[in-house]
Amino acid sequence: MKVLVAVKRVVDYNVKVRVKADNSGVDLANVKMSMNPFCEIAVEEAVRLKEKGVATEIVVVSIGPATAQEQLRTALALGADRAVLVESADELNSLAVAKLLKAVVDKEQPQLVILGKQAIDSDNNQTGQMLAALTGYGQGTFASKVEVSGDKVAVTREIDGGAQTVSLSLPAIVTTDLRLNEPRYASLPNIMKAKKKPLEVLTPDALGVSTASTNKTVKVEAPAARSAGIKVKSVAELVEKLKNEAKVI
Ligand code: AMP
Repeated sequence: MKVLVAVKRVVDYNVKVRVKADNSGVDLANVKMSMNPFCEIAVEEAVRLKEKGVATEIVVVSIGPATAQEQLRTALALGADRAVLVESADELNSLAVAKLLKAVVDKEQPQLVILGKQAIDSDNNQTGQMLAALTGYGQGTFASKVEVSGDKVAVTREIDGGAQTVSLSLPAIVTTDLRLNEPRYASLPNIMKAKKKPLEVLTPDALGVSTASTNKTVKVEAPAARSAGIKVKSVAELVEKLKNEAKVI
């Protein structure tokens, strides 16, 4: 079974992001970039499926600038077999990314596509769902457990108030949630080996996909600074303040 995993290059989760002075976006100059944490979980799940003998090949795909090759090499070091970069310097919205992924799905014909539930830079939580709509495949989003048997995959989903298990016919789309697994670290020998694994570079044009956007970012602003908190002396004082000052109870 071939598994396709989508990985996004994002600002590292430890970085305190700064907004550009002209409010046009987030300042990315000299900022540490990493693989989106939910995509790390997606790669780990694919590697575990391969270790169990369920998956036979793992292809990782990223859409973004040439520098996204770094994240693809990381995925190769973690156990993916080959990588595809769809190179684009443009800021792409989820629909454009989903259309490009659909073109890669058509080309690669994977049985399972694993994505993160969301990218921590844009927090869109849209791409997997859009890809499912474009391909017509079943989707199991926010997965905390994935079990493939025969031509079906059972996906346990994190939902409000508990867990829901859905059974999907393959090919299918899965998006990962935090509890699915704990990703491993790449070992030095595997980082060295990853340098020799195949990495194909494509363009949106070569895939016949237009990435023109229908939405425009008007303004990006940092959240308002929070005012300092206070300490209360008793529960009674807390309740009084919640009632009369915050007016939330
Ligand atoms: P989003 O819908 O933007 O929150 O992203 C959800 C998931 O879609 C990510 O965790 C990735 O698996 C995938 N994805 C989004 N953008 C990209 C991209 N530019 N390249 C590869 N995968 C992406």
